[in-house]
Amino acid sequence: MSNIRTTGIDFLLDLNERHSRAFMDLSSERRRYRGEHPTEIAALKCMDGRLHLPVMTQTALGIIQPFRNLGGKFDLGWPFFQVIIEQWVQYSISRGRHCLVFVTYHYARGDTHRGCRGFNYDTNAAKDAAVKLKDQFIRVYGKGAVVPIVCGIETDLDALILHGEDEHSVVDLAKIKHSSQLELEEMLYSLYPSIPERIVRDMIPLVRGNIRHIAEIRQSNRPIEESEHKEWVLGVGRGFDWLHAINTAFIVGPFDPNLTVAIETAARLLKGNIDDGRVDPNGIVLLTSAAYRDEAGPEYHLAKEKALFLSKFAHDIIKERVPDLVPHLQILTGFTDMDTRKFEVIERIDAAPVKKVKTA
Ligand SMILES: [Zn+2]
Repeated sequence: MSNIRTTGIDFLLDLNERHSRAFMDLSSERRRYRGEHPTEIAALKCMDGRLHLPVMTQTALGIIQPFRNLGGKFDLGWPFFQVIIEQWVQYSISRGRHCLVFVTYHYARGDTHRGCRGFNYDTNAAKDAAVKLKDQFIRVYGKGAVVPIVCGIETDLDALILHGEDEHSVVDLAKIKHSSQLELEEMLYSLYPSIPERIVRDMIPLVRGNIRHIAEIRQSNRPIEESEHKEWVLGVGRGFDWLHAINTAFIVGPFDPNLTVAIETAARLLKGNIDDGRVDPNGIVLLTSAAYRDEAGPEYHLAKEKALFLSKFAHDIIKERVPDLVPHLQILTGFTDMDTRKFEVIERIDAAPVKKVKTA
């Protein structure tokens, strides 16, 4: 390992610094893009660190709004989740924008065991859950301004698998060679015959970006180990899209009423990464973030209280259920200004270095 650390708190803060600057530098670019492609896009995803849609679709930060949970499992009956989704939908509608929701599951084409741990690697179960969630969106929002689509994320090639309205029509973007505007439009209309034209036009840059990204992954001959788990951060909360790197963090959103299980699973996976020697045992971070926009009002202070609460909550669960991870943990707690993506530190605790002890 080289002397330049690529994990740990300082690395994270530096990463945030750079991405916050890039995010602000891109604000006029983003505004232009938004003008051209106004559809609001959300992605419901597993906490798995390999699923990074902005990277996979070569889309600027801040265009796709991520929601993370274990297995990508969500339910519009969850009290906090439905509030957040409804706010997002109402915000979009008030601005005259459509909402596109990617309801995702994930797997790896080369090996079932690189698939989703949240579903015990059962891809069909993960897909079925995504279909159910899509149907729930349709039940609540009807067919109109809010369009949910089921999308697989295949992590060996970082390819999107688009499932059409008719459950038998599926397109694996790793198999698409053509990419003219007309051909892509035709493909999307055949998958989604009832989708508004506006959304199709706003989906095309993502589809095109993914096709380009897949070609780059193929060309780089990315070794399979790179698509195995290498996360070294456990992220709890919201506002993490500045962590603009594949395979860095397990991210658990605060939406699931069974938050304890999601945090425990992420902690176990993290411990597994240490035990299997895939990550530096001295660079493990429990990172908690709350998100806010308005610095003047109570929102800022509420975000701060939330971050402190969630950090202690997660730490207590790890102490109780995955105590072997505790000595490795560095703790970074703060909140993220969603207008700048700047992360403000509330608390940081650096762990003493841990020597790797052979137990077997
Ligand atoms: Zn997963």
